[in-house]
Amino acid sequence: MKVSNEIINIFPEIKKWRHELHAHPELGYEEEWTSNFVAEKLESFGLEIHRGMGTTGVVGVLKGANASLGGGGNKAIGLRADMDALPMTEENDFSYKSKFDGRMHACGHDGHTAMLLGAAKLLSSKKDFDGIVYFIFQPAEEGGGGGLAMIQDGLFQQFPMDSVWGMHNWPGMSEGSVAVHKGSVMAAADKFEVTINGNGGHAAMPQATNDPVLAVTAIVQAVQQIVSRRQNPLDAVVISVTQINAGSGFNIIPQTANFIGTIRTVNPDTRISVHKQFTEICEATAIAYGCSANVSVIKGYPVTVNDIESSEKAIEVLSNLFGKDSVKTNMAPSMGAEDFAYMLEKIPGSYIWLGAGEGKSGCMLHNSKYDFNDDILPLGIAYWEQLVKSEMPLR
Ligand SMILES: [Zn+2]
Ligand SMILES: [Zn+2]
Repeated sequence: MKVSNEIINIFPEIKKWRHELHAHPELGYEEEWTSNFVAEKLESFGLEIHRGMGTTGVVGVLKGANASLGGGGNKAIGLRADMDALPMTEENDFSYKSKFDGRMHACGHDGHTAMLLGAAKLLSSKKDFDGIVYFIFQPAEEGGGGGLAMIQDGLFQQFPMDSVWGMHNWPGMSEGSVAVHKGSVMAAADKFEVTINGNGGHAAMPQATNDPVLAVTAIVQAVQQIVSRRQNPLDAVVISVTQINAGSGFNIIPQTANFIGTIRTVNPDTRISVHKQFTEICEATAIAYGCSANVSVIKGYPVTVNDIESSEKAIEVLSNLFGKDSVKTNMAPSMGAEDFAYMLEKIPGSYIWLGAGEGKSGCMLHNSKYDFNDDILPLGIAYWEQLVKSEMPLR
């Protein structure tokens, strides 16, 4: 891996920013301190700043050398980082640990923000590309749909771009390795809520009732046939029932029972088909037990689908930087979800995984002892820099 002297020179400063961000975690749509921090830095590099998009989102605009001379390329690309933290208490004990109970940068968004700021600093000092880079800092990735909020606020109308790019640090993959998927990379994350309506009564006289508890136990089993029998085993599907509620006493058959959970799919067509089968099985099984079912499947983040051509470009840039053998192109998608999916639904691009080091305990994402690996900051910055130069080369 070749890291330029320019990146080595700014590394101590970027690391300091990462630690400051880590110490000030903010939850989705509350990233006031963080967006101020980001905007101040971008402004100090001479970028044009747009604030308040999707509540706390920030966009920095950087025109390349030719463009700022009044001519230049008419191509534009977006690079995106997420700024939000998670509602959990940090169990680390280093000097820059979270200042707040119940808030923690446990997914490395502090690192993503620092890397994108580093790239903005580097590229603004040289402007050695031909076109426009939009640096997109989004709120509320962790379930809040901040990416969608920015799109609904006119992100792609106000800043038309040819492609959009994302990156997530990936514990469990070695430092200096990366993964690029040609197609699906993260799952759709949908939620279901099902209520079974029965007919309650005395637990000693079941013949006079329609027992919704028995119906629920059957339905929870029956929906697993979607995964094991109804869908292609090579096309990943997860259905997890995570909560069941029913009843108020040992001798009462309740009137209703309900359960909730999540459906994960990595193919947009499969997603539609699983939702349909899930609803049918819940309704039909409830009827078989003398009950009825009210089923709602609430759509969460869509499948994150990389554009194949963009992924091939990313692979080329990364192979030059990291070496061909360090670029994994055949990894299975993750069943986790990512709201960069909404951006990739609108604009072609690619979302890559940047190896963060192999899994020593406590370093996995969303763990209370997680900390972003500072050693990969230069690698992420180098990727952003080379991607911009390769997408919009100076002529
Ligand atoms: Zn996360
Ligand atoms: Zn994350």
